[in-house]
Amino acid sequence: MLFDLSDVLTTEGKVINIDVNPVVDTISYQGNSYVKKEAKPFKLIATNIGGDKVMLEGDAEFLLEGECDRCLSETQFTVAFHIEREIEDCKEAERSSEDENADVLTGNLLDIETLINNEIFMNLPDKVLCKPDCKGLCPKCGANLNERDCGCDTFVPDPRMAAIKDIFNAKREV
Ligand SMILES: [Zn+2]
Ligand SMILES: [Zn+2]
Repeated sequence: MLFDLSDVLTTEGKVINIDVNPVVDTISYQGNSYVKKEAKPFKLIATNIGGDKVMLEGDAEFLLEGECDRCLSETQFTVAFHIEREIEDCKEAERSSEDENADVLTGNLLDIETLINNEIFMNLPDKVLCKPDCKGLCPKCGANLNERDCGCDTFVPDPRMAAIKDIFNAKREV
């Protein structure tokens, strides 16, 4: 979705509401793909704050689907965030080599999808897990340890890990 910001970029004090209906698609970030399953429509408020600058503000929420970082099964999670981004009239920005608007602004056209996707990337959880205590995959046979105990002898050379494994084994014997 491209939105022409000419009006608000050139009129000091001007405020406009942009109705955003985010596209439901697939986004990729650092080798991982996430499907936007649900995206709530929201209002993006563009305010001319003077000096050819516009502040964009809004609250967005997405239901995403992606692979669990440990067991690789598909899992869904919500990402909600507050957008607060200042952009500058491109005529000024284009002259400098550090055009901070380049990702979202072409001429006076704001690329709202890119703006949203960049915000999603910044707000992704550190780890995507299907559940907090996901046991992951067996390093030997690749079995999903949430579904079954494959019985592999997984030798763990790190003594700290070995201690954790002892606790785990002791629990299992109870
Ligand atoms: Zn998992
Ligand atoms: Zn195994």
